[in-house]
Amino acid sequence: MTARIIDGKLVAQALRARVAEHVATLPFRPGLVVVLVGDDPASTVYVKSKDRAAAAAGIAARTIRLPAETTEEALITQIARLNADPAVDGILVQLPLPSHIASQTIVETIDPQKDVDGFHPLNVGRLAMGQPALVPCTPAGVMKLLADAHIELEGTRALVLGRSTIVGRPMASLLLGANVTVTMAHSRTRDLAAECRRADVIVAAAGRPRLVRGDWIAPGATVIDVGINRLNDGSLAGDVAFDEAIGHAGAITPVPGGVGPMTIACLLENTVTAALHRR
Ligand code: NDP
Repeated sequence: MTARIIDGKLVAQALRARVAEHVATLPFRPGLVVVLVGDDPASTVYVKSKDRAAAAAGIAARTIRLPAETTEEALITQIARLNADPAVDGILVQLPLPSHIASQTIVETIDPQKDVDGFHPLNVGRLAMGQPALVPCTPAGVMKLLADAHIELEGTRALVLGRSTIVGRPMASLLLGANVTVTMAHSRTRDLAAECRRADVIVAAAGRPRLVRGDWIAPGATVIDVGINRLNDGSLAGDVAFDEAIGHAGAITPVPGGVGPMTIACLLENTVTAALHRR
């Protein structure tokens, strides 16, 4: 068996085009502000591509760059200003923040209605309760990839590998909402291979290159690889041994070109959702 490749670039392109079409029909321009503290090179690259994608979709995007030595108080004041600004629909504070700033405090400062990352406890709680919420972009993107690939979810078993608040936990909530029987695995899971073998769908988000081996995958299972790991030679690898997995899975996402492009596309969609809801 050779797995069908789920092309995240194509699905993301289509979603971005739909968002742009939607924005063009609105009587206002949704506004997105990204706050970047410090000059972490990876964050700087992400922020630029978010800016570009938002502008291409007709969203009024701007980035506020603050020096690495910005105090927590100063950042809170900045966010309070954005909370109060009626032209701002979405606020995203790029993580990680410098170590002297408590990320959780900052996340909790953002108006939940403008929390396009979906990290505010109100949105986290609403999602966990199965209520409408602003949903974290990466797991939201995974659900769209599964839908686009026509993967039947209802009644199936999924293994979510990783329990972070950014990916694993919201992923499990979304799958549960789609009537999937969800198992969550993490670094203390005893027999990860056995857990994987029971799954119809595996979502790998551990941040460990090639952790999931080909023979851990049930024949025909769907494998979504969220992992982005930079190897010593500079190349990118997912959490799944793609070359092995392709002979076992029914459908699989590559890295790069799988989940990655969906994250920004879902951020744009969240910005429009936040704008419509608030205005
Ligand atoms: P975290 O480091 O916050 O969480 C990793 C999770 O994986 C933890 O729950 C950890 O368990 C678990 N884990 C780590 N090692 C193992 C192991 N050997 N066996 C089983 N479980 C393990 O990472 P994130 O959730 O933020 O990100 C995960 C990956 O997804 C990263 O590669 C990241 O780069 C990528 N990512 C990709 C995005 C995209 O747009 N495609 C967006 C966000 C992230 P424990 O809780 O016990 O420590």
